[in-house]
Amino acid sequence: MKAYTVSGPGESVEEMELPTPELKGREVLVNITHTGVCHSDVHMQEGYFDLGAAGKLPVTASGVEYPAVFGHEIVGTVKAVGPDSSLQPGDQQYIVFPWIGCGECQACREDRENYCPRPRNLSVALKGGYAHEAWVPDEKYLIELGDLDPAWGATLACSGVTSYSAVNKVLPRGDEDIVAVIGAGGVGLMAVAMLKALGHKQIAAVDVSDENLESAKQLGATITFNSRVENPLEGLLEATGKKIAAAIDFVNNAGTASMALGALQKGGKLVSVGLFGGEHTYPTSLLALQVFTIEGNFVGSLPELKELVELAKTNDLPKLPIEEKPLTVENINSSLEALAAGKSRGRTVLVA
Ligand SMILES: [Zn+2]
Ligand SMILES: [Zn+2]
Repeated sequence: MKAYTVSGPGESVEEMELPTPELKGREVLVNITHTGVCHSDVHMQEGYFDLGAAGKLPVTASGVEYPAVFGHEIVGTVKAVGPDSSLQPGDQQYIVFPWIGCGECQACREDRENYCPRPRNLSVALKGGYAHEAWVPDEKYLIELGDLDPAWGATLACSGVTSYSAVNKVLPRGDEDIVAVIGAGGVGLMAVAMLKALGHKQIAAVDVSDENLESAKQLGATITFNSRVENPLEGLLEATGKKIAAAIDFVNNAGTASMALGALQKGGKLVSVGLFGGEHTYPTSLLALQVFTIEGNFVGSLPELKELVELAKTNDLPKLPIEEKPLTVENINSSLEALAAGKSRGRTVLVA
């Protein structure tokens, strides 16, 4: 099968022929029609996650084996199935759930595979979506796309379910409570749209790009703040007019995390999502006195993706700006470079 591989940390993507696996049990070979480009692929390509003073966490610690195939926002049709699968090869399109666990631990048995200590995520331990075919270990990971736009449906598998899971961690809140979304790129914009769709009233979007903030406003942000200023915390509180109930930090570097903690009202919650690196320095006593909660968020579970797809099918969720390009090695590399340089607005989805 034709795939677009990375041979080592920091290397560009190149075309490569990989062996097509023989299917057993309920395994499925998906014929990829759409594949989204995600910022975490930039970190994967760089070869490490930045842990601040704790150094760098190599992606090989997460199970990456070279040549690696990144990309985890996959929509496609069934090309072939194992002998025990109930699916049939055909034209029906599916969204592929990529955050697959070991299948044996307690988290996996409870359908919380994103908490599995031995994950087999597509694009990490398993080959991902920068390819024309993807091997999926069980048909249960395929969710019917229905009438959803396939490019947008692809983004639900990562940015969508990440936003949905993070938004679920800060709702419900009262009508006067401000929820701030820090980072209005692809994932953050989705969170703004979901907060609005789930009926939340006061949504503050924070970004360093006026263009992203304009997109956020169109999707339902009631307050926007460009944090490229000398004192971002002061500026944010000026823009909101009061302290905030919760923040979802899709950037999550030292600057945004301290801005978010500084802006929280008593009982406030910070949900940390981004992987831009850095660390917290905050008075521990204040965490107790202010009754703060800090909670991490890594993608979402299979049930959450199913809920989100249902929400998208039954509600008119606003669409993100999505740019579609043909699935080629040049377009994968240029899309990753644009993301790394912070020059990408909304989302890029590659179409086979
Ligand atoms: Zn992603
Ligand atoms: Zn597990």
